[in-house]
Amino acid sequence: MIKYNLICECGKDFESWFSSSSEYDLLKKRKLINCIYCNSLAVKKSIMSPNLPSKSNKSSKENKFKKNIKKQLINFRKYIEKNFINVGNNFPQEARNIHYDKKTSKGIYGKATPEETSELIEEGIEVDTVPWVNKSEN
Ligand SMILES: [Zn+2]
Repeated sequence: MIKYNLICECGKDFESWFSSSSEYDLLKKRKLINCIYCNSLAVKKSIMSPNLPSKSNKSSKENKFKKNIKKQLINFRKYIEKNFINVGNNFPQEARNIHYDKKTSKGIYGKATPEETSELIEEGIEVDTVPWVNKSEN
């Protein structure tokens, strides 16, 4: 099972479960996915990653902007570390286990080479790559 975060043109988002990513594509093609709030068909899959906390600290200075992004990435990293299981270098194997025996819907994270990542995607396994920043702020 795959849980997708869906976002509608009305601005609402909600979660929905699909047996696989191809099921999602099929339902989407047949216009069977609509918004639970307004019934609109203009619903799309948002990225699996959580919303980054948006600090309302709007400065036009570019370096402040970059620093802010880094801060968000650090928060994002912390979020992943807290909510997902670190499987380290076993990531490709663990991702397959989860995909094929479907016993668990637990999120995992770990390391994979670009080749391994594209292999997983070819097998229909949902993989997101995220920039992994150092926690120390420069
Ligand atoms: Zn809607």
